[in-house]
Amino acid sequence: MDADITIIGAGIIGLAIAAELSDGRTNMYIVEKNETHGRGISSRNSEVIHAGIYYPTGSLKGRLCVEGRELLYELCREYKIPHRRTGKLIIATGEDEMGEVASLEAAALRNGVTSVEMITRERIAEMEPHIRAVGALYSPDTGIVSAHALMDYFLHAAREKGAEIACGTEVNEVEPVAGGYMISTQNREGERFSFTSERVVNAAGLYSDRIAAMIGKTYDHHYCKGDYFSIANVKKDTVQRLVYPVPEKNHVGLGVHLTLDLGGRLKLGPDATYIARIEEYKVDASKADRFYAAAVKFLPFIKREDIVADMSGIRPKLQGPGETFRDFVISEDKPGFVNLVGIESPGLTAAPAIARRVKSLLNGGVS
Ligand SMILES: Cc1cc2nc3c(=O)[nH]c(=O)nc-3n(C[C@H](O)[C@H](O)[C@H](O)COP(=O)(O)OP(=O)(O)OC[C@H]3O[C@@H](n4cnc5c(N)ncnc54)[C@H](O)[C@@H]3O)c2cc1C
Repeated sequence: MDADITIIGAGIIGLAIAAELSDGRTNMYIVEKNETHGRGISSRNSEVIHAGIYYPTGSLKGRLCVEGRELLYELCREYKIPHRRTGKLIIATGEDEMGEVASLEAAALRNGVTSVEMITRERIAEMEPHIRAVGALYSPDTGIVSAHALMDYFLHAAREKGAEIACGTEVNEVEPVAGGYMISTQNREGERFSFTSERVVNAAGLYSDRIAAMIGKTYDHHYCKGDYFSIANVKKDTVQRLVYPVPEKNHVGLGVHLTLDLGGRLKLGPDATYIARIEEYKVDASKADRFYAAAVKFLPFIKREDIVADMSGIRPKLQGPGETFRDFVISEDKPGFVNLVGIESPGLTAAPAIARRVKSLLNGGVS
């Protein structure tokens, strides 16, 4: 087997790229170490379609979020992928936070998120009578989506145009050879298999720094865990929009916030804690008191006993503890070899725009 393009990793990023690059003529393989697609970071996140407010102006995170968000809504509409444009409130719980909210409005406008609007306490009370806030930035273009339905769609679209996927197959070596790269894999039974590929896209999520190292390129992921706590089902549908406090300094996390799923269930989190081990998903139930204390300030209807440890996810961050903002890396580090590193939030939202960027990189230019 020889491939024109090999994509390493079948998460939202690899699958979006596969859908974008497949054309019925290109010999494309997607290689995934798990037994099915979509079991990595893409299955452990908030499923929020971000508007693109927080990111430094001109950053890839900011630009690809804004572009990806609209592409995503279009796809969702056209292919009936479950989603909802819920809207989001970034709230001040006291007058002292209003300056911060106003500066987020300015950041949003700089980033081209022009639909945002500052709203008063009275307007908040009409929109969300059960939350407590003195003012807010309202983002009508934030929403939620079924990440799994989206990944299924991308996989289907790629396969329809000839892409093939090999699950349960781990890439453990990549070597530059004449005309491309030799990719060595091993399946779950321990069988080894090698093939050559003219071009390679490294979309291995948490492990993409390790794949990059195979071609001699050094990146270092820091793993930053986010725990979620769910709010009892009886409180379901009490709030209709996502509600975020003003973010933490240095954008390590966005603070304990309220997200919804498509069934109207309420969830708090994720928080942000750097961890040493790569896949340690156990939620620290002892954080429940802290989550409750942070959330009850703006969600006065919740009780301590409503809060139960839920799931967690792990971010592949280039930004280490105490460091400042780091952008996505989407880089053709060797001819025909594109690395995607540090693809944390808003990776889900940006996925279709990231896919377009990878396509233009491989076609010799970036738009
Ligand atoms: C807690 C949390 C909340 C988030 N919330 C949001 C949000 O609300 N909105 C948003 O836009 N973004 C969000 N994100 C970010 C988003 O989830 C990620 O950017 C996105 O899912 C990354 O997708 P991926 O395809 O790069 O990684 P993954 O989904 O992890 O896919 C990578 C794949 O590569 C495979 N792989 C790894 N190594 C190998 C190998 N050697 N051989 C073969 N296969 C390999 C893995 O098994 C995996 O399936 C969040 C992230 C986290 C952690």
